[in-house]
Amino acid sequence: MTATTGAAPIDHWIAGKSTAGKTSVRGDVFNPATGSVSGQVAYATAADVQAAVTAAAEAFPAWAGTPSHVRARVMFRFRDLLETHRDRLAEIITAEHGKVFNDAQGEVTRGMEVVEFACGIPQLLKGEFSENVGRRVDAVTLRQPLGVVAGISPFNFPAMVPLWMFPVALACGNTFVMKPSEKDPTLSNELAELLAEAGLPDGVFNVVHGDKAAVDALLEDPRVEAVSFVGSTPIAEHIHKTAVANGKRVQALGGAKNHMVVMPDADLDQAVASLMGAAYGSAGERCMAISVAVPVGEETAQRLREHLVKALADLKVGPGRNDGVEMGPLVTAAHRDKVAGYLDTGTQEGAELVVDGRNTRIDEAGEGFFLGGSLFDHVTPGMRIYREEIFGPVLSIVRAGSFAEALTLVNEHEFGNGTAIFTRDGNTARTYLAEVKAGMVGINVPIPVPMAFHSFGGWKRSLFGDHHIHGPEGVRFYTRNKTATARWPRDAGVTTEFAMPTHG
Ligand code: NAD
Repeated sequence: MTATTGAAPIDHWIAGKSTAGKTSVRGDVFNPATGSVSGQVAYATAADVQAAVTAAAEAFPAWAGTPSHVRARVMFRFRDLLETHRDRLAEIITAEHGKVFNDAQGEVTRGMEVVEFACGIPQLLKGEFSENVGRRVDAVTLRQPLGVVAGISPFNFPAMVPLWMFPVALACGNTFVMKPSEKDPTLSNELAELLAEAGLPDGVFNVVHGDKAAVDALLEDPRVEAVSFVGSTPIAEHIHKTAVANGKRVQALGGAKNHMVVMPDADLDQAVASLMGAAYGSAGERCMAISVAVPVGEETAQRLREHLVKALADLKVGPGRNDGVEMGPLVTAAHRDKVAGYLDTGTQEGAELVVDGRNTRIDEAGEGFFLGGSLFDHVTPGMRIYREEIFGPVLSIVRAGSFAEALTLVNEHEFGNGTAIFTRDGNTARTYLAEVKAGMVGINVPIPVPMAFHSFGGWKRSLFGDHHIHGPEGVRFYTRNKTATARWPRDAGVTTEFAMPTHG
């Protein structure tokens, strides 16, 4: 954090306007491909957060009272604006996050698909009705919005993760305060401006920037009814505990260590091509990245390792805007150094560092936060490089003697976000799907991120709370039920019942 200087300011978005708020503290935002400071983001004070919550609270009654099909029309226009501006948004993602341009375009598209889901909100909010639950007595169940809800997002998907949250929340009739990652904050402001252009009333969507202080102010504000969090496991657990203690509904998605089991009968070319993208795409900074390959049998392990070493020699690392580049830099110098530190840790622990990304030739590296793709073999479950989420371009091979051993390995890991199995055998795949303890499973699909009309979420210490995110679970999370039982006086007669009514 630094005191304010003359660098490009990135401000909050409150009640339909850009505002610096009351802060004198800003943080540097970097271009990871060059290492230069590209902007300075305002760190919200508690008063700034309260101003955003006030704007959202004041906007709530009118927005909640707006018919759902009219709210959906705003989402239709927002969806079209996202498509029109997709490349510009992707440029911003590449500039602040570092991921390659076509990956950034894909991120915007995957986020846009949640908006498309939210466009169907009138259908999704249709309640339940039972006629004649007693004589001339009817019952109806409504789904109503919660009020002001907050979203807190990580650096690795500055467009997609906020878009997992607020389109569904807004379509349900809630108002929203977004706290994006301070590492790549610009995208949320862009989304706020596009929402305004789509016709969203002022105050319905607000953005506050900052770190723990801004998050704590959101968690402590009694007007915030619910919190959606996506980030690392220690923070997810803290958010879940604090939000629950403060009486809020919360979904807190955390970190991961995703395994890919490669059976002896797998199509090895397909498995290796998939592993390369899943382990090294976005420099491994994906919660659904595959960071552990589990070949079953020594021969599978040997062939897999040889193919991976060859493929890594061809991996093109450089600035994400350059043609042909497959992997960009890491998000910050500190994160790059932390990931590189795991290469020493793994070696000290006795794993074999087969490919050391520190030796990779990188086009136009300059002062950028680059690290090439690395590969460890002979990793074992007791090692830190196996237990901890590295969140970088480091793939570990853990050799398993049998399918049962591979399944046990995956199930005993503390995380359970995603996993994949590569096999040609339907029975093996089916058993894996039935018995594996993870929230999202790929069968010959390396990164099984559910489509927007399904819901996304992990098991074990990859998710704290009861609801997965977006899709039908998103609608349930952002609404609450109200059930009415109605009888009209004409036929009711005058009776007093002391026994439990059974409508018999
Ligand atoms: P992070 O936990 O450091 O930060 C996430 C958010 O929490 C940011 O907005 C940050 O400002 C805020 N924050 C940080 N420290 C805080 C504190 N002490 N108190 C309150 N708020 C705090 O995560 P990150 O480094 O930005 O993102 C990477 C992590 O996110 C990885 O662990 C990755 O697996 C995880 N992730 C998970 C999913 C998922 O769906 N499960 C998706 C994307 C990323």
